[in-house]
Amino acid sequence: MKIGVIGLGNMGVPMARNLVLAGYEVRGFDIVSPCPKDIKAAKSAVELSTLSDVVIMMLPSGSIVKEVADEILPNMAKGSILLDCSTIDVESTRLVAETATNYGVLMADAPVSGGVSGAVAGTLTFMVGGSAEAFSTLKPLFDIMGQKAVHCGDSGNGQAAKICNNMILGATMIVTCEAFALADKLGLDREKMYDVVSTSSGYSWSMNAYCPAPDIGPISPADNDYKPGFSADLMLKDLRLSQQAAKTVDADTPLGMHATSLYKTFVEIEDGQGKDFSAMLPRFSKKTRTDT
Ligand code: NAD
Repeated sequence: MKIGVIGLGNMGVPMARNLVLAGYEVRGFDIVSPCPKDIKAAKSAVELSTLSDVVIMMLPSGSIVKEVADEILPNMAKGSILLDCSTIDVESTRLVAETATNYGVLMADAPVSGGVSGAVAGTLTFMVGGSAEAFSTLKPLFDIMGQKAVHCGDSGNGQAAKICNNMILGATMIVTCEAFALADKLGLDREKMYDVVSTSSGYSWSMNAYCPAPDIGPISPADNDYKPGFSADLMLKDLRLSQQAAKTVDADTPLGMHATSLYKTFVEIEDGQGKDFSAMLPRFSKKTRTDT
């Protein structure tokens, strides 16, 4: 199976590299980033697509994914697979899947969780939308690049799972940070707060695995001056996607909506840009109540 990877950024390079290390022939293409020496460089996305049985896209947005898919799908062999691992909107994913079907190409959306460290370590989780046939053909690749792949149903369902997960994550991180800031003001030691909450009903991944308070719990970006990790900018992107999807299907998501607005303020008006999404804790520490 020959593989092409389009989008050689923070995630695309380590994912491609793990496939090379596993013995696959992998070509890469990016309009800006140079192709690392250990991955064969393709001259264009079109050249890459004609030489690949599976084309993986790891791109920033739905509009770019649509643009690249429109360019390469006419050149892909019938029965080949387009695998989009980018995090994008459900609507664009389903449109691309429809176009792929018209060209006789199988399409799967498989956004990931686990971040850059997961991509490097090959421990990503893939949330996969698309046919059972596409999923089973791609499973060996998911097993190399990740530790878990869940077939979530038809096209778009991988993206749906990703944005629902990250809507929970965004809201949970915010409430974990505001609870720490409240505990500080109440005179409760952060270590004691962690000891109680991480083993009580307030526990969560944000508290237990990615604690936003420095020097508490397992090592996390808080221990590295809030360098990402998972940036507040990417969290804002995913929260916006969740709200875009919620509007499309008329779903009431008040906490998701408020989390989006808080991360928007944090990234666009305050000093959150480029920081880890857990840097909401120092943000709350600086704030006072506004309703008094
Ligand atoms: P990135 O910005 O580092 O990489 C994206 C790459 O795509 C860039 O190198 C860019 O030059 C390239 N690109 C843009 N337009 C292109 C085009 N038309 N043709 C070819 N290449 C093009 O982004 P990333 O961090 O690697 O993230 C990629 C995707 O993965 C995004 O959708 C992101 O939301 C998702 N994601 C990222 C993380 C993370 O922690 N970085 C975690 C989970 C999911």
